[in-house]
Amino acid sequence: MSGASSVRQLRVEQVTHSYGNTTVVRNVSLDVEAGQVHCLLGPSGSGKSTLLRVIAGLETPDSGTVSIGSAQVTGEHIAVPPEQRAIGFVFQDYALFPHLNVRRNILYGMPPGTRAERHAKMQSLLERVELADAASAMPHTLSGGEQQRVALARALAREPGVMLLDEPFSSLDVRLRTEVRETTLRVLREFNTATLLVTHDPQESMRCADQVSVIRAGQIIQTATPQDLYFFPADRETAETFGVINTLKVRREGTQRVTVLGCLPGAAALDDSNETALLRPECIALEPAHGPTTTGQGTVCTIEPEGGTNLIGVQLSQGPLVKARCLAPGNWNIGAAVRVRLRNP
Ligand code: ADP
Repeated sequence: MSGASSVRQLRVEQVTHSYGNTTVVRNVSLDVEAGQVHCLLGPSGSGKSTLLRVIAGLETPDSGTVSIGSAQVTGEHIAVPPEQRAIGFVFQDYALFPHLNVRRNILYGMPPGTRAERHAKMQSLLERVELADAASAMPHTLSGGEQQRVALARALAREPGVMLLDEPFSSLDVRLRTEVRETTLRVLREFNTATLLVTHDPQESMRCADQVSVIRAGQIIQTATPQDLYFFPADRETAETFGVINTLKVRREGTQRVTVLGCLPGAAALDDSNETALLRPECIALEPAHGPTTTGQGTVCTIEPEGGTNLIGVQLSQGPLVKARCLAPGNWNIGAAVRVRLRNP
């Protein structure tokens, strides 16, 4: 364990990688600090695993550099072999050695030391992943979640500064997934590891990450905190990835940007054309309509219960249908006349 949490432990700069004539990673840059979880979110085939393979040293990129701590491991005339990089991996299929028990799986990649030191460290790792009693178990006798935690302990045994997780929770059922994810990420933060987590699940990236990079067709579209990605998506496709989005036409009046619901709040996101505002349902406020209003008059036409909140669809009398998120149970009924206004996230 080393380094303050502001240390940039993994740095990828302008990496491009092709298979034959097909470029699948284009000019990708990202940084992961020690103790932080960075999610790489993108659909299947977008180049996520290829980027991990470049970072691990399993692929040599066309161009670009990779640094771990202060050492460049990939670059022009630099190609540190995978086993000499301070990197751990956990994959979707755990890849434990089936013929070795848990103890021997974990001891396998551990750096040299006395037998007592190695066993003490192995036991301490098992305790960290909440499997203190499982040292003698064979992998096939463990549940999927337990096997995944052994895989994590085995990867941590090498004391990597950087951990690469490739869809590590996707084969677990929903309840187990949350539990194993929480344990895994808590342990990685405690070890001050820089973690790059690949996922195609937007909700998972929102829950887990300090930073999320959205990748599409090999290119990073946006890197931001989960909250900034949600409220200030770079484009409509990214906006739609993370939930319901309202789109309103924007016209310029002097320095102001005006919609059918009045002036946009200063921080509102626009799509790439700069002519459409991208507004989350949390940015739409409803009030009872008392008498005629000039802007923002509408009628409630749908109510979608979400548990603690309702998504209320309002047909604007002079505009499109917009959706507002309101606390449940709320007082809105289908057919009610409402006044709609914009607010900051
Ligand atoms: P992801 O992890 O986002 O699903 P990949 O990095 O696995 O994406 O793949 C990106 C693209 O590269 C895909 O079109 C895939 O078919 C292609 N690809 C992956 N590995 C190879 C390979 N070894 N040889 C040729 N093409 C590959």
